[in-house]
Amino acid sequence: MRANVNNQYPDEPGGITLEAFLNLLDKVRKDSKGWRCKCPAHEGNSQTLKVSCGGDRIMVHCFAGCSYHEITASMGLRPRDLFYDALTDDRRREYQLNHIDKRIQTANNIIYFGDTAMQSGTITDDQRKEYSQAIVDKHLLIDERKAI
Ligand SMILES: [Zn+2]
Repeated sequence: MRANVNNQYPDEPGGITLEAFLNLLDKVRKDSKGWRCKCPAHEGNSQTLKVSCGGDRIMVHCFAGCSYHEITASMGLRPRDLFYDALTDDRRREYQLNHIDKRIQTANNIIYFGDTAMQSGTITDDQRKEYSQAIVDKHLLIDERKAI
């Protein structure tokens, strides 16, 4: 078993960032939905562990059947360390801002393609709806960002 996470990350009283979490794992490979790597909770060399970014925590799933508790324990982590609210206030804020920025970027892309389609006169009804929604979403997200 590895050392307690609090000793490895003295600046974090609890919780772990996705980056630090991935650094604890072996054979990490990025795929379209997240990361695949070797599961720390069982023997074997294949990349059976799936890691992804959830809304409130780092999500893990071992296709060989290891439980969430077995996985976190084998890494010297507490089960709650994968939840972002276990992070320090600064880290949590950073996560929330990153998450909102990604959503703003998505809205910007929809608005950009909507503008282009409108200028060329090729916009469809669905695209127009999506475009209007993206403008509303963007304003809400910007307000949400200011409140963090
Ligand atoms: Zn496993």
